[in-house]
Amino acid sequence: MVKKSKKKEVPEGFKRCSKCGDVKPVGEFRVKNKKTGLLRASCRECEKEYDRERSQKPERKEYMREYRQKPERKEYTREYNQKPERKERERERSQKPERKEHVREYNQKPERKESNQKYNQKPERKEYMRERNRDKVDSLTDGYVAYTLGIKLSEKQELEECLKLHDAPITIDGLISLKRKQLQETRRERDGERFEKNTTRKHDDAVGCGEDEGSKDPDRYGKNA
Ligand SMILES: [Zn+2]
Repeated sequence: MVKKSKKKEVPEGFKRCSKCGDVKPVGEFRVKNKKTGLLRASCRECEKEYDRERSQKPERKEYMREYRQKPERKEYTREYNQKPERKERERERSQKPERKEHVREYNQKPERKESNQKYNQKPERKEYMRERNRDKVDSLTDGYVAYTLGIKLSEKQELEECLKLHDAPITIDGLISLKRKQLQETRRERDGERFEKNTTRKHDDAVGCGEDEGSKDPDRYGKNA
């Protein structure tokens, strides 16, 4: 005769999860009702698993996207992201190679490119980029000077070979050096003392600052630090 298997007694301070069936300490269950102290039927582990699965569904993703767009939600996220520990974690995360690769790919999407372009047109964003690149711009790095010529340093090798092929009487390095002299002249006239102080630094690679040097706006790099 088969003995009917009776479920084991659940000891005091323990509870059986309705999902996985495991008997776990009550601490492993979330509280359902704070007033009565009633616990949820399934354990934290199972609820996590459920949340994970649910968050992968397209309709749920769409819902979350819309949810995050709500003004009050945006405001909350903004405040939350201002916390130092949060900033630190985000910094660490953004340094990981797989994360960098992901961001690069993400930003290649046409709709992203357009949105980034729009974003970079905002005055406060321009000002930020200017501030961030000021050192590079001020010290006229190869990268920055090349940028004002419409050349990317990463393409230098290729361009150099092209010039050689056509027996051009100049090299890219030569061009950069000429352009630098020209920029130095303009700045010396415009900025005087500040200029002399800032051009003694070593040149290294620069990121373009999003604007060309040709504009007539006298205020643009001339603000005193
Ligand atoms: Zn469970």
